[in-house]
Amino acid sequence: MRDFKYFRPKTLKEALKILRNERGKVLAGGTDLLVKMKDGLIYPESVIDITLLEELRNIRQRDGRVEIGALATLSMVASSQIIQLRAPHLAESARLIGSPQIRNMATIGGNIVNASPAGDSIPPLYTLNSELILESENEKRVVKIEDFFSGPGVSSIRPHELLTAITFPFPEEPFFSFFKKVGQRKALAISKISLAFLGVIEEQGRSFRDVRISLGAVAPTVIRARRTEDFLKGKIIDQKVLEEVSGLCAEETKPISDIRSTSVYRRKVSGELLKKGLVEFTEGVIS
Ligand SMILES: Cc1cc2nc3c(=O)[nH]c(=O)nc-3n(C[C@H](O)[C@H](O)[C@H](O)COP(=O)(O)OP(=O)(O)OC[C@H]3O[C@@H](n4cnc5c(N)ncnc54)[C@H](O)[C@@H]3O)c2cc1C
Repeated sequence: MRDFKYFRPKTLKEALKILRNERGKVLAGGTDLLVKMKDGLIYPESVIDITLLEELRNIRQRDGRVEIGALATLSMVASSQIIQLRAPHLAESARLIGSPQIRNMATIGGNIVNASPAGDSIPPLYTLNSELILESENEKRVVKIEDFFSGPGVSSIRPHELLTAITFPFPEEPFFSFFKKVGQRKALAISKISLAFLGVIEEQGRSFRDVRISLGAVAPTVIRARRTEDFLKGKIIDQKVLEEVSGLCAEETKPISDIRSTSVYRRKVSGELLKKGLVEFTEGVIS
């Protein structure tokens, strides 16, 4: 690893001032950044360690919205009662990331800014219509998560900005949600395919009035499966509908073949993950 300047601000104000003057990299949990630095993939001139900014390490709800501080660890997201109640599929995605040691270090902000199409917290955040709060010394802006990413590792964050929080409105009740992923192994595996689902249940309890489906690792960025969502709205879920949505969902993906999987496998399994979650809904397994 090459030499770099190291800063450890104690307040957000101080951190934003340093970011204005330095061409550096932010360090949160370090589980992505330090791996890249050790592997020689990046050589930042300076590292701004934000781990002391306790003001960014919280999860709260107010005015009908959930707010997650960017420094909330994935362990906090997985075990938070607020997240388990308002967004159980987001809690589940955090629970399935890495190992307990990784989840205790890694932050939700790092998972987002890393901008991997396989970042597991991102698909549930898409289904929740999340917004990102980005702050620099002179500006605070709000960006919809779906507008944030433009390719693998590429996002619209500016060099002097910090992601400070993620917010989303409470989903309408009653809802059904799930997150499913397939990796190389059962644990400690980056997703080959992931899928998040959020549906507002219609009165008779057999169909959805509103549907949001998001997929990870099947395109250059996380995507929404909008044609599948429209198709599913208001439909009683029977075997025929399950087959149709599964095929539609697979068609909406644009996967590549890489070291983790082939495009054919990714496409097929995307549809299967959706089908599996919907079967659980019809069997009355509400998460
Ligand atoms: C063994 C192992 C297993 C893993 N398994 C998974 C997995 O199953 N699923 C998964 O999705 N990921 C996985 N990861 C990747 C990683 O743990 C996550 O992406 C994690 O959430 C990154 O968070 P962090 O706080 O460690 O980020 P860092 O490494 O600190 O930062 C990542 C990037 O985001 C920037 N950044 C961080 N926070 C901010 C902020 N608040 N504002 C501006 N920029 C910021 C950094 O500059 C850097 O570019 C794994 C990693 C390892 C090493």
